Amino acid sequence: MSRPLSDQERRKQISIRGIVGAESVAELKRGFNRHLHFTLVKDRNVATPRDYYFALAHTVRDHLVGRWIRTQQYYYEKDPKRIYYLSLEFYMGRTLQNTMINLGLQNACDEAVYQLGLDMEELEEIEEDAGLGNGGLGRLAACFLDSMATLGLAAYGYGIRYEYGIFNQKIRDGWQVEEADDWLRHGNPWEKARPEYMLPVHFYGRVEHSASGAKWIDTQVVLALPYDTPVPGYMNNTVNTMRLWSARAPNDFNLRDFNVGDYIQAVLDRNLAENISRVLYPNDNFFEGKELRLKQEYFVVAATLQDIIRRFKASKFGSTDSVRTVFDSFPDQVAIQLNDTHPAMAIPELMRIFVDIEKLPWDKAWDITKRTFAYTNHTVLPEALERWPVDLVEKLLPRHLQIIYEINQRHLDHIASLFPNDVGRLRRMSLIEEGDTKRINMAHLCIVGSHAVNGVAKIHSEIVKSQVFEDFAELEPEKFQNKTNGITPRRWLLLCNPGLAELIAEKIGEDYVRDLSQLTKLHKFVDDDLFIREVAKVKQENKVKFALYLEKEYKVKINPSSMFDVHVKRIHEYKRQLMNCLHIITMYNRIRRDPAKLFVPRTVIIGGKAAPGYHMAKMIIKLINAVAQVVNNDPVVGSKLKVIFLENYRVSLAEKVIPATDLSEQISTAGTEASGTGNMKFMLNGALTIGTMDGANVEMAEEAGEENLFIFGMRVEDVTELDRKGYNAQLYYDRLPELKQAVDQIKSGFFSPDDPNLFNDVVNMLFHHDRFKVFADYEAYVKCQEKVSELYLNSKAWTKMVIRNIAAAGKFSSDRTIKEYARDIWHVEPSDLKIPPPNEPRDAGQDKTPNGTAA
Ligand SMILES: *Cc1c(COP(=O)(O)O)cnc(C)c1O
Repeated sequence: MSRPLSDQERRKQISIRGIVGAESVAELKRGFNRHLHFTLVKDRNVATPRDYYFALAHTVRDHLVGRWIRTQQYYYEKDPKRIYYLSLEFYMGRTLQNTMINLGLQNACDEAVYQLGLDMEELEEIEEDAGLGNGGLGRLAACFLDSMATLGLAAYGYGIRYEYGIFNQKIRDGWQVEEADDWLRHGNPWEKARPEYMLPVHFYGRVEHSASGAKWIDTQVVLALPYDTPVPGYMNNTVNTMRLWSARAPNDFNLRDFNVGDYIQAVLDRNLAENISRVLYPNDNFFEGKELRLKQEYFVVAATLQDIIRRFKASKFGSTDSVRTVFDSFPDQVAIQLNDTHPAMAIPELMRIFVDIEKLPWDKAWDITKRTFAYTNHTVLPEALERWPVDLVEKLLPRHLQIIYEINQRHLDHIASLFPNDVGRLRRMSLIEEGDTKRINMAHLCIVGSHAVNGVAKIHSEIVKSQVFEDFAELEPEKFQNKTNGITPRRWLLLCNPGLAELIAEKIGEDYVRDLSQLTKLHKFVDDDLFIREVAKVKQENKVKFALYLEKEYKVKINPSSMFDVHVKRIHEYKRQLMNCLHIITMYNRIRRDPAKLFVPRTVIIGGKAAPGYHMAKMIIKLINAVAQVVNNDPVVGSKLKVIFLENYRVSLAEKVIPATDLSEQISTAGTEASGTGNMKFMLNGALTIGTMDGANVEMAEEAGEENLFIFGMRVEDVTELDRKGYNAQLYYDRLPELKQAVDQIKSGFFSPDDPNLFNDVVNMLFHHDRFKVFADYEAYVKCQEKVSELYLNSKAWTKMVIRNIAAAGKFSSDRTIKEYARDIWHVEPSDLKIPPPNEPRDAGQDKTPNGTAA
């Protein structure tokens, strides 16, 4: 059996966070001092902690630049197939530590910062999160960028540089209050503006048809200014690009045709155009049909496609037959992945470019378009599916509407030829929904315009095929695929949980960081008493650290020896934070009923943002805080049960709370959570899961064995059956006394004595229109929680189950997910070739590319 290592010994042996050489530390310190002086224009007498953060960020950034230029140069020379990941969200979080880790600089920087007499963690905390996402969908895009770079794919993320990301959440008197996220206020050292690649995007106007084809004229122009952010792979010298577009008004905005007399007003009105990239829409899994949102969606699409085509034309494949570009090889050189339907307008936009501008025949253009796009579906909730009103599209993008109608006509003709006299099918499969307001079904557009459609977990992909898009799957079964989501082990283990990452490396070596399936090697240590103790010790240290953080930042004291029961994700009815809340109330009532009885102490931590317009989600936050107020101040309860609402849940807070979690709550109604990725982060970080058979939980249970998760409640079939019978909440309320008591307390104002009717809407919903059937799973959930508490009493048995989970988490690396996309959808090979590191800058004149087209 192994001997315990001191932290110092561990550091020396493990190089996953980089090797410390004396020269590299000295070099980093020189870089730091140089940037403090020349970039920040400060000396150490007047420098603030923020100046030190920026000096360090610039020092680390210097190590990216050569690799970035080299990688892009390499792509230009070799012309591999490019992968374009189009997304309205990239939920990147912080960049400094991720960059240090992926470049193997973490240990050297730690040492340099220490020698400079500064505190690394304090500096890291100064960086603002890049909160350009709402939740899972945007975070997935960020994990995918990391994996694509690590796998050496010539990949690009394309999105919008929102001036304001997801709002900052404050809790005031138990209510959510939103504050603007002014994340760029102090400047962003990780981006580089590229005004030389600015591109025009057109809106409104009208279409003129003539013998030479359609012309979209009299449009209003907005400029798209790209900002590039480097995306380093893990220790492979590859640095890819995330290009985010910012909206700029042209300098003649409102001065050419009208408003000529009012120069001042015309300048002020530039804001109208620039509002396009002002703010992220804060809805998670919800469609809000606002004109500004449609403008954002088309803005990113139009700018990105111009960029893609410019790059294609600059390559050797963009050959010309004397006058025109030949696009035959386009789908072999370009893959465009649509992250949900948000960038769906890319399909008619590419058709417009091919047919109206490049003068390709329709059939050829359509064939190339279909072979270029692939679409990822992220939800089956009807309220989340984008259905844009035809009138709005006609006003904003009149030519695109015509093209969509043409696509639809040909699509319906095809179906009619296969299924004669089946009007029902034509209506169901049309891109256009008739009704009060005529709408475009964007998912239908994406399915028709792509060669591959994928769901994000096995169960979800099955639901997509068998229920939501049944007719489409019947028509083209081979188009439908599954690509189970994943998370990057760099951020979600190395970065956030160094203790566990290093402990694992001691046992199985360091290669697991790039090949997470190697975690199965941990299975042979499940009975190693020393390893069990060390895993438990890392968890305990993480819990103490998180408790100290809560105490420092929020002045709340929690008991680090209690079970940390954590439910963090966006607040949504389908995620059933209300069910967790009913369990808290049930535990509370049990303690009060019999205070002498053994109770396994718990700290229940719930966090997440509610969309500002989502009334019920905001009421759920208020209820959790009201319950917390009562529970936390009841002397009978004492330290047995504490309830914390974790304010402003975001990527950088996830990195703190997940490694400190004992129990992960993944309790959505079966069939509603497409995949979930939070569930995977917890599994990898040594938490046990209480969850339903939903999303990727199903595959987590498959990997670890169902006996190593706390699975409870209705399966999808049970939910379907209950829907068929008719769900009656009252029945459960009448049959289950503890449920009745908890609901009665909410209803009677026990948790809101100043306003007894405060939660009427919530209670009314639970009884009369609960689409997510909280009461139906309540009993199974509470019983399952009892089993959780029982196991927690046996610390060794608990930790052994934790180890079995970590050992089974390998599947959930986003490296595995991206390899599957590469193999089955993009048809590209990952490359483990290391681009040579940039020792010295190459002579600029020697290998200059013509006309600066390389980027
Ligand atoms: C991973 C992550 C999510 C997604 O969590 P789910 O539990 O899968 O909904 C949301 N927000 C943040 C900040 C995350 O890091």
